[in-house]
Amino acid sequence: MSITPLMPVYPRCDVRPVRGENCHLVSEDGRRFLDFASGIAVNLLGHSHPGLIGAIKKQAETLMHVSNMYGSPQGESLAQRLVDLTFADTVFFTNSGAEAVETAMKTARAYHQHDGNEDRYEIITFKNAFHGRTMATISASNQDKMHKGFMPLLPGFKYVEFNDLEGAKAAVGPHTAAIMVEPVQGEGGIRVADDAFIKGLRDLCDANDLMLIFDEVQCGVARTGTFYAYEQFGVEPDILATAKGIGGGFPMGACLATEKAARGMVFGTHGSTYGGNPLAMAAGEAVLDAVANDEFLAHVRTMGEKLRGRLEQFIGNYPDLFEDVRGMGLMMGVKMKVESRPFVAHLRDHHGLLTVAAGDNVIRILPPLVIEDAHIDEFMEKLSAGAADYTP
Ligand SMILES: *Cc1c(COP(=O)(O)O)cnc(C)c1O
Repeated sequence: MSITPLMPVYPRCDVRPVRGENCHLVSEDGRRFLDFASGIAVNLLGHSHPGLIGAIKKQAETLMHVSNMYGSPQGESLAQRLVDLTFADTVFFTNSGAEAVETAMKTARAYHQHDGNEDRYEIITFKNAFHGRTMATISASNQDKMHKGFMPLLPGFKYVEFNDLEGAKAAVGPHTAAIMVEPVQGEGGIRVADDAFIKGLRDLCDANDLMLIFDEVQCGVARTGTFYAYEQFGVEPDILATAKGIGGGFPMGACLATEKAARGMVFGTHGSTYGGNPLAMAAGEAVLDAVANDEFLAHVRTMGEKLRGRLEQFIGNYPDLFEDVRGMGLMMGVKMKVESRPFVAHLRDHHGLLTVAAGDNVIRILPPLVIEDAHIDEFMEKLSAGAADYTP
């Protein structure tokens, strides 16, 4: 037998983390890394946050899991907090981002189909989007590399260029049910949507009775310096998918919706065995305790501005390597003029710095949101040293 016990779907590198210490990771072989990847925008409180650890420990000792057949004081409490903090009136808890997106898409279709209008099913999405790895969420993305080997895709999706409002308008037809967009594309290369594009999508949805879905799985939960990124576009969605940061490392996600948008999500239409279990809810509460306040969000914005300022100054020293700095808050990207993936590997293997490659030859910089000035200093030192001894 030559297949590995872990199904070999990831090209794993030889960093093998066994311990986390705030914003650093320690590998099996003792090497220490500055973690500006955060499990891809997940560990927003770093790796050893006492509040998060304490909440999970306490809940694990009290009650880990019960079925959704029973009443859920834990779920009601966290859902109420999310409703109070956002546009939403109601919340469905999931275990991952893809499931949150699936729930969002089902909610949008059910909005039209609950009273029998089965002609409305099409969802318009955008090129280079990433919505997850389930059959429906790969179908929602135009990326061939995710489709190969898994045909046929689910029907009912139309892909339009990101930031192309006219293209979106032209794609709306009698079967359109919803438009789904990442306000900041993550995997696609930290591409921030234009204000006018997002506002235009809102108007387009209003004019045609379409559901506007924001996929904030990566950009949500304080990452951009507001609780959700949509707040900075001056537009509210009807439905929003959130995950990654929301459990701070505990696997969970959620689909948020207005009362109107959720009109088709009635008894028996959807479910999840684990979704919203007491252990996950305890993690979610601890994350909100830490991040859902003005002081924390201001910290993210301050650190984001400092990091951006330093990066913008720095890239000028290497005009052959770097093109520009993009992003919002602590969701930053540096576009390279050469391939970004080998440079990310160089920083990791030779300078103890973890970042993430993204589409469009971008290095994604996704530090824990609890970083301080000293972490930015350490990051800039490692990045500078990495650029200085890099030959593409
Ligand atoms: C990561 C991601 C997903 C999928 O989340 P999983 O937890 O991996 O299923 C969906 N949408 C966006 C924008 C993401 O970044």
